[in-house]
Amino acid sequence: MTETRTGGCLCGAVRYRTATPPGRVSHCHCQDCRKHSGAPFQTWANFATTDILFEAARPAIHASSAVAERGFCANCGTPLTFQYLETRDRLSLSVGSLDDPSAVTPECHYFAERPVSWLHLDDGLPRLDRHGDPIDDDG
Ligand SMILES: [Zn+2]
Ligand SMILES: [Zn+2]
Repeated sequence: MTETRTGGCLCGAVRYRTATPPGRVSHCHCQDCRKHSGAPFQTWANFATTDILFEAARPAIHASSAVAERGFCANCGTPLTFQYLETRDRLSLSVGSLDDPSAVTPECHYFAERPVSWLHLDDGLPRLDRHGDPIDDDG
């Protein structure tokens, strides 16, 4: 069974390939992910950096905070990557940029303290706060 996954940006300038299964796949509701994606939340699949092969152009990099960088296509703007500076050995790919986003399975919601008010989450996945601790829904 192959674990190869492919993806890339809207215009096709950036194409990537991975050969190993992702680590954690998660939805992130932080404001930076909202802004970066232009969507109510962003879904990421985390891989070993060395397992991601960029086949042509590499993503342009924006230092989005003091602790993280985000990659996007310099030509069409598609959000592609997220990386914590402290853990350069890991790189997250935007699940929407995969050719088959259904080939990965999200496990949880991060920064789920305050999802966008009109967003209704009923997927049954754990909702975690910014620290990765479970959120008590009774609150
Ligand atoms: Zn592009
Ligand atoms: Zn985020």
